[in-house]
Amino acid sequence: MTLPIRNVAIIAHVDHGKTTLVDALLKQAGTFREGEEVPDCVMDSNDLERERGITILSKNTAVRYKDTLINIVDTPGHADFGGEVERVLGMVDGCLLIVDANEGPMPQTRFVLKKALEKGLRPIVLVNKIDRQRADPHTAVDKVLDLFLELGADDDQCEFPYLFASGMAGFAKEKLEDESVDMKPLFDAFLRHVPPPIGDPEKPLQLQVTTLDYSDYLGRIIIGKIHNGTIRAGQQAALVTESGAIVKTKVTKLMGFEGLKRIEIESASAGNLVAVAGFAGANIGETITDPNDPQALPLIKVDEPTLQMT
Ligand code: GDP
Repeated sequence: MTLPIRNVAIIAHVDHGKTTLVDALLKQAGTFREGEEVPDCVMDSNDLERERGITILSKNTAVRYKDTLINIVDTPGHADFGGEVERVLGMVDGCLLIVDANEGPMPQTRFVLKKALEKGLRPIVLVNKIDRQRADPHTAVDKVLDLFLELGADDDQCEFPYLFASGMAGFAKEKLEDESVDMKPLFDAFLRHVPPPIGDPEKPLQLQVTTLDYSDYLGRIIIGKIHNGTIRAGQQAALVTESGAIVKTKVTKLMGFEGLKRIEIESASAGNLVAVAGFAGANIGETITDPNDPQALPLIKVDEPTLQMT
């Protein structure tokens, strides 16, 4: 079964409530899922990650809502991770900008928003922590618009959809006067405003290495977006390295995202985000492709060490 997909990055200044909000999304997504088909999970591949829980949000999570798979990717807010921010934004088709209702936009808001706008994304704005006494949600929206204009956002980007939320209380709503007890309005906004990924599952495989991870058991794990084609566990694939060399290797394990877990899957197609083991020599920016028709994607420049062990 192939579900429709949305890939969305969450961007925010530190402490504006990203972790709390994603936690609420993960908790609630399960409860909306009655009657939906859930594919079998072969196994959990990352118990450690689950134990550490949401605090390591720095990678991918996924929720299912109205039979759509929503991949949620965290983005570091700090300027030291500029290259990482760009890479992550290259994996998604939309982003959620979280802004504290009281503080309004802060330096990291500006930094990440600038990158998102440069990528041509059309952010959804979430004014968060509206439960707080001194919250001033409408002023926050005005300040966000000022920031969009200042950063040279185009007309479409400036007409951003916005919602008000309390990640802590677990609700989001389109208008302050609305009654809302859950995050459904935000899930619906993802479905409505984040475009589905483009890409052709019938074309030769092209998967761009965006993040590297490591497990004692599987070795180097690459995480990235399938831009075209379909990848299958056990298949032979080719890595096109930065220098243009073609290294043929087997996909020893293929994983998708489900909540905070990685689950082993048999195959995945264009548009999806996956974790892949078997490519010990892969580096960020390189392409995993069809060994019979190797076609590299343009390299993504990196300005920081390429292997981050977490
Ligand atoms: P992050 O740094 O963006 O991941 O922010 P966190 O989710 O860790 O939240 C930062 C702080 O704000 C924590 O003390 C949270 O308890 C608090 N917080 C997060 N969301 C809300 C909210 O909706 N309302 C209120 N009042 N506090 C919140």
